[in-house]
Amino acid sequence: MALKELLDELKIPNLPQTFGDLCLESTLKTALSVFYANVDKDLIEHEIFCKGDSVTKAFRLTVPHKLSEFCLIYSKNYIIAKDKTTPSFLDNILEVLKDAYSKDVNELFFEYSLLDNFKQKKTIVQRFVLFKNDNNELCTFSILNDVSIVRQKQEAEYNEYLQNLAYTDPVTGGNNYTCFKEKVKENNKPGFIICVDIHNFKVINTTCGISKGDEYIKKIWECIVSMIGPDDEAAHINADHFVIYLSTLDEAQAERTVKNISMSMMLLSAELNVPQLHPYFGISSWDTTTKIELAYSQTVEAKHKIHNNLQENFAFFTESDTKRLIQEKQMEDDFEASLAKKEFLIYYQPKYSPSTRKLMGAEALIRWQKSDGTIVPPGMFIPLFENNGLIKQLDEYVFRNVCQQQKIWKDEGLNIVPVSVNVSRVSLYYKNIVERYKRILEESEISSEYVPIEITESAAVNNKDIQSIAQVFHDAGFHLHLDDFGSGYSSLASLNTLHLDTLKIDKSLVDFIGNSNGERLLEHTVALAKDLGIHVTAEGVEEEAQNRYLWHIGCDSIQGYYFSKPVPQPDYEKILEENKLTQADKNMEIIINSVAKIKHALSKKSTYEYIVNLTDNTLVDYIGISDWTEQAVKDGNNYETAVEFAAQNFILDDFKQMFNDFLDRNALIQNFDGSTKTKTIYFRRKFKENISWMKLSTTLFKPQDTDIICMYASLTQVD
Ligand code: C2E
Ligand code: CA
Ligand code: CA
Repeated sequence: MALKELLDELKIPNLPQTFGDLCLESTLKTALSVFYANVDKDLIEHEIFCKGDSVTKAFRLTVPHKLSEFCLIYSKNYIIAKDKTTPSFLDNILEVLKDAYSKDVNELFFEYSLLDNFKQKKTIVQRFVLFKNDNNELCTFSILNDVSIVRQKQEAEYNEYLQNLAYTDPVTGGNNYTCFKEKVKENNKPGFIICVDIHNFKVINTTCGISKGDEYIKKIWECIVSMIGPDDEAAHINADHFVIYLSTLDEAQAERTVKNISMSMMLLSAELNVPQLHPYFGISSWDTTTKIELAYSQTVEAKHKIHNNLQENFAFFTESDTKRLIQEKQMEDDFEASLAKKEFLIYYQPKYSPSTRKLMGAEALIRWQKSDGTIVPPGMFIPLFENNGLIKQLDEYVFRNVCQQQKIWKDEGLNIVPVSVNVSRVSLYYKNIVERYKRILEESEISSEYVPIEITESAAVNNKDIQSIAQVFHDAGFHLHLDDFGSGYSSLASLNTLHLDTLKIDKSLVDFIGNSNGERLLEHTVALAKDLGIHVTAEGVEEEAQNRYLWHIGCDSIQGYYFSKPVPQPDYEKILEENKLTQADKNMEIIINSVAKIKHALSKKSTYEYIVNLTDNTLVDYIGISDWTEQAVKDGNNYETAVEFAAQNFILDDFKQMFNDFLDRNALIQNFDGSTKTKTIYFRRKFKENISWMKLSTTLFKPQDTDIICMYASLTQVD
């Protein structure tokens, strides 16, 4: 029946124009039932059956004439209330409709499920059209449609969509990992699982944009798929990670396939005009009895072995890896008990002044002594503990022990020096680290200057919060050492942004000594740090020549095998016992400090510098080693002998008298009037067959609170 005829039949003149639309008409055509009611009068006036039966009849309802009564009975008897649309609207239909109309709503839709007389579940959409009749009474025109079939179809489509979503990778449109696992399991043939990763892939995303990155991933996927056989499988896991299954047991063949995939992947960079990237692979054999996840995690382990090695781009998971993993698991399991049994020992590596060779400090380095007496070095367990978070406990243990030990030594009257403690970058991520360390410090009753904290440069570069953590550490009074400076990512910026007390120059920079570019780098790094008022320690110093060089460029302390390896506590205690301060030591310190004040007045670029205690006739310190200072050292640092040696061996005859007079100890002491004046002479010397002009400037001074007369001398070549 067409809408118009229907309306005519119902004698509904006032139906607003919009209701005459096609949609309403088609709904009418497929309706289960339609009724027309006067809402204000609460009266069902007509019931029309377009399709099937009358609702009242079909549901064996007695015909009530009241709209509200009908709705109530219908709702109570048929509708499944727990379904997605609660049918409560039917329970107070009059209010619902009136309320809607008062808010200018002309149409209401409700969807609900019901069980029909045959206990069949049906999904119904009930539509109420609202309008006023000629008497200005609210009327409704209600159409019920059975949408069960439509909904079922939608549900099936939706399920298929979900299924697809669960098995398809959104970037490549190919298999995802779940799909991969199911397919490989279904195949049920042993083979190789391979993981694929790309060095520095994030460069693409950051330099070329995410969409280029996605495009690249898609190309890699296509490349992998084109290189594997029909019995093989592959999937994109996430980011730049892929997984491949090869259905072969032939290791050589697996290797060949990997090499081929690698080569084609590398060609993609040129094709897509992106920076050259290097894939690398981890390979593990898979027998059908092990879980694919396990095999995959083994490939990742294998891959990690070559993570820092650009020469090799694939690695197999081997027997020894299994052993290592078992060992690591064992270490994790043993950790707590070992800590309690005090199996973690602290070794001390002393740091010395390159010039005076006096003890300046030490670094605490952990060792694990197993119950069989073997000593495990930290490289074997620190990375593992950094991975599983145990490092936080270990670092704290070391810090607490060093604090307590320093206090004991101090109380025993030993002349203790600062012992720096390493704090892993992982430990730094824990929010309350500074408070915890501060509490330990307070409990140990030791001053923070005796337990500086070493943080690594990589922590400083990677951890965004480091600046604030460093600040908080600093504010809490801790002394901070920046460890391993120059290894990996050097950040000169961190020198400026972090509140640092000491810069520790890594062994890799120290090993540059002997190479002129390397030496310049070192020299400038030290100069920059000193300029910023930061103390410099060099690490990994193994040779006399390195010590001399570092001393010459102004390094303050030296840590390395040249002076001492890390030693167990009893040995360090002996070193501490020998570290007694004599009066001469104290004087020397005062003298060196005083020189620092007058030095600026003189040439910074002097080749050699000497500090002389004229009263005692000794050389206190010298920067820049010359043959005659070496001779002087042999002669017990005797100043007069040193001058004589120099005059004999280097000064040209014409200048000898003047040189000797200028440096005559007795004359200098007698003529000293207490004021700081600089005197200069020029002379010629012969050194290694070269004759050159030299400028010698001297300044006499009395170090504060002493009666000693000292001299600072700087010697520069002038042509
Ligand atoms: P690090 O902090 O850079 O410590 C210096 C390392 O260089 C020590 O290795 C030391 O023995 C070694 N070394 C010192 N002088 C020389 C030398 O002249 N030549 C050579 N070749 N090596 C030298 P060690 O004791 O094996 O420690 C290795 C690393 O383990 C440390 O490097 C540090 O990063 C970490 N570590 C040690 N103890 C702890 C700790 O308590 N907590 C944390 N988080 N890390 C620690
Ligand atoms: Ca360190
Ligand atoms: Ca270091």
